[in-house]
Amino acid sequence: KTILNVQGLRATVNGIEILKGIDLTVRSGEIHAIMGLNGSGKSTLAKVLAGHSAYEVTGGNVQFEDNNLFELAPEERARAGIFLAFQYPIEIPGVANNQFLRLAYNTLQVHRGKDELDPLEFDDFVREKMKLLDMNPDFLDRSVNEGFSGGEKKRNEILQMALLEPRLNILDETDSGLDIDALKIVANGVNQITNKDNATILVTHYQRLLDYIVPDYVHVMVSGRIVRTGGKELALELEARGYDWLNAERETTV
Ligand code: ADP
Ligand code: MG
Ligand code: MG
Repeated sequence: KTILNVQGLRATVNGIEILKGIDLTVRSGEIHAIMGLNGSGKSTLAKVLAGHSAYEVTGGNVQFEDNNLFELAPEERARAGIFLAFQYPIEIPGVANNQFLRLAYNTLQVHRGKDELDPLEFDDFVREKMKLLDMNPDFLDRSVNEGFSGGEKKRNEILQMALLEPRLNILDETDSGLDIDALKIVANGVNQITNKDNATILVTHYQRLLDYIVPDYVHVMVSGRIVRTGGKELALELEARGYDWLNAERETTV
């Protein structure tokens, strides 16, 4: 079943065209890796899908399940099941993580027409999820992201994904220098969370991450376009050969 269908997507920021015609189809059960050099437009794609206000969509269309994505406001997209992991998660001093997570969870439950969980019920539920992700429950009593290490923020983000059960997870791992622990956290989380009913788009330029997560498809972005799509072996080819050969190949075929 198709979850996301992107056709000819173009977008600008400050009047400069960054996305120059993106086509991408994501079906349930799939993991798609999007790779590319710095500045190729990977984060822009993630943000446009999430509805970030700095970007103007200037062409194409995006179908998300039964919705025209661009008819949904950002918070409606989140409620409809698009989850964009934050690159730099916010800190909320004085708000305990478990309160924050319960509020987020219950807001979505109400929207889905389901029962809210009271604090005790939620506690059981969140601890189960944490067990699955191999996370320490001490985490629940701390303020949201306050003083968290990079790896701990990453875990928290993955925990939010596990709790909210989005239809489409979009993770932008950006340039923030994930260490090996953080890579493993992300990988373990994505592997636990992806099932036959949801899908994941993983933006990364770390081939190493793909040693732990096996994507169904790898897409390479160059200058706002997907110039090549392949299986997991494409990531290995990029690791061995870099990105230049893609440009050279395009120039000779254009
Ligand atoms: P990537 O994630 O692949 O490194 P980005 O999507 O972050 O690439 O950026 C793509 C291009 O868009 C870059 O040239 C970047 O400078 C430009 N860009 C992104 N956001 C903005 C912005 N808010 N204002 C101006 N230029 C931007
Ligand atoms: Mg970048
Ligand atoms: Mg980026």
